[in-house]
Amino acid sequence: MSSRKEKGPKPRSSPETEGGPPAADAPVSSAGTPRFEDIFSLEDLQGIQDAFAEAANVASLITDPSGRPVTRPSNFTAFCRDIVRGTEKGRAACRRSDAVLGRTTDQGPTIATCLSAGLLDGATCIFFDGRHIATWLVGQVIDESVDMERVLAFCRDIGADEAICLEAISRVPRMSRERFGKICQALDRFAKLLSSMALTNHRQSGLIGELRRVQDRVKARDRRLADMIDFLPDPTMVVDANGAVIFWNRAMEKLTGVGAEDMLGKGDFAYAVPFYGFATPLLVDYARGAVDAPDPRYTVAERNGDAVIAEVTVAALPGGPRHVWAKAVALRDVAGRVVGGIEAIRDITDRRRAEEALADHRQRLEAEVEERTRDLRLQAMELAEANIRLSELDRMKSVFLSTVSHELRTPLTSILGFAKLIGRDFSEQFLPLAGSDPALAAKGRRIADNLAVVFGEAERLTRLINDVLDLSRIESGNMVWRDVRFSPGAMAAKAAKSIEGLLTQRPEIAFRARIDDDVPDVVMDPDQFMQVVSNLLQNAVKFTQAGSVRLEVCRDGEAVRVAVADTGVGIPMDELESIFDKFHQVGRGDTIQGAAKGTGLGLAICRQIVRRYGGRIWAESSLGGGSVFTVRLPAAGERDVTAPD
Ligand code: ADP
Repeated sequence: MSSRKEKGPKPRSSPETEGGPPAADAPVSSAGTPRFEDIFSLEDLQGIQDAFAEAANVASLITDPSGRPVTRPSNFTAFCRDIVRGTEKGRAACRRSDAVLGRTTDQGPTIATCLSAGLLDGATCIFFDGRHIATWLVGQVIDESVDMERVLAFCRDIGADEAICLEAISRVPRMSRERFGKICQALDRFAKLLSSMALTNHRQSGLIGELRRVQDRVKARDRRLADMIDFLPDPTMVVDANGAVIFWNRAMEKLTGVGAEDMLGKGDFAYAVPFYGFATPLLVDYARGAVDAPDPRYTVAERNGDAVIAEVTVAALPGGPRHVWAKAVALRDVAGRVVGGIEAIRDITDRRRAEEALADHRQRLEAEVEERTRDLRLQAMELAEANIRLSELDRMKSVFLSTVSHELRTPLTSILGFAKLIGRDFSEQFLPLAGSDPALAAKGRRIADNLAVVFGEAERLTRLINDVLDLSRIESGNMVWRDVRFSPGAMAAKAAKSIEGLLTQRPEIAFRARIDDDVPDVVMDPDQFMQVVSNLLQNAVKFTQAGSVRLEVCRDGEAVRVAVADTGVGIPMDELESIFDKFHQVGRGDTIQGAAKGTGLGLAICRQIVRRYGGRIWAESSLGGGSVFTVRLPAAGERDVTAPD
């Protein structure tokens, strides 16, 4: 046996590395075959090799199949190392004997006599699944029976110094060939054991490798998980099955002022200390079943399977007592076993304060509303009572008005009748008697004028009574409306005819009417329609000195438009609305000389009538520039015959 360089079938010459550790990039012996050093602990084998060499008094070395040493040489002799390998010839002789030892065989150890020096060498192979992965070499032993003269001849042959050789050989172990054979047998048994362990070791190392990869993956996943939990804005903690903290995120650090490094790994409910000042189960411990019931401090809002939501006030946080919302969930493995729990909390102190303030506020409002409702109810009762009294008064007023009007109209009829009779008799019978007496004639005319005043005022009183009666009937709902479908154009023409007499007395006023053909029908009381149009026409004549009065009836979309325009005195802007109020008259209600004095009720009656039929009445005017009164009434529907009363 010589050094490794010369041993393998493909020896590599690099004296500098001889006996040193194997190169890091040592090749795998053949594709798919693992390396010896990847299967066995070289450190352990080195120990065994050293001990074996020492005990058996042999040199020893393990090489890979190419002859590259994988262990350090044990017990090498100076003779082989320094003398034989010190010459080129000696090295060649070693190579030749190594070629014999390098032969792969599983038939037991190979024992060879070093061809040149007559030393004994042995080798046995270690296999992995039938593939040769290493050779264990022993040797550098002198056969007891060797002829020393032959050894010296070899020394001379390779050119080594004879005296030095003799001295070196004296230190080479000697043993019988039989004993060396037994040593090789023992080595061979051990090599066979290693071969059988190789496959198991390889599988184990494969498993260990896989385990490491899985561990790496788990570590990476844990890292990601930690990053994710850190990222959560809510303070969050995770405990394992033993209740030891495994995650304590940044938001939690910020809230509690306790760093993760001080909390990770802590158990026995120590994580409650930053919240309460002492160790006590938290919601997460209830969620994961570590305690049977939540702490009574919690107000549990919801328990849904493994998840539980609660609110609690915690006193020991750095910022002082806070009210927090907490959600905790039990964490389970794939088999459903609880392996820990997670709890996230949210500081809702401000929200709660706002809610409380609101609830105060709400209570106060409710009390106010209640008080106000009581007041209103009282007022409503008072109003109802007043309403009853008013209805009664209204009824009494109607009764009074109809009685009074009846009582007034009877004497008024007599006054009107007699005034007319007296006037006629006076004009026909007595006035002519004045003859040529101018004083008497003047007195007579004055009497006739005064009688005309009596007559006119009696007439006005009659109109007033009629108007008051009409208005009170409408307002009290006692008016009987006789609604029918009719053409407003024809009815307006009738109204125009009714003021012909008036117009005859006022030749300075030109009257014009324009009544379109396509005016739609309306459904209403025709007498009331007549009253509206007549009122407007009479007013127009009444308040026009000279000029014109125009009546216009036309279609206005789905409505009828009736307009009465005059060139009269006009109405001040700020009274365009109030003229429709009862008894409102512009100025003193002065009319154009000769026209009948008004009552201030006509337009109020018009507005009541028009409104009853869903219409509108309004006036446009400028002082001195005349006025336009417009009435807009909804047209009858296709199927309307009469409108509901
Ligand atoms: P009256 O019996 O006094 O005419 P109305 O209610 O019909 O009562 O009218 C109210 C007032 O509106 C009138 O007194 C008058 O001052 C004003 N008025 C009504 N129509 C006209 C008009 N065409 N031109 C100017 N003023 C008018």
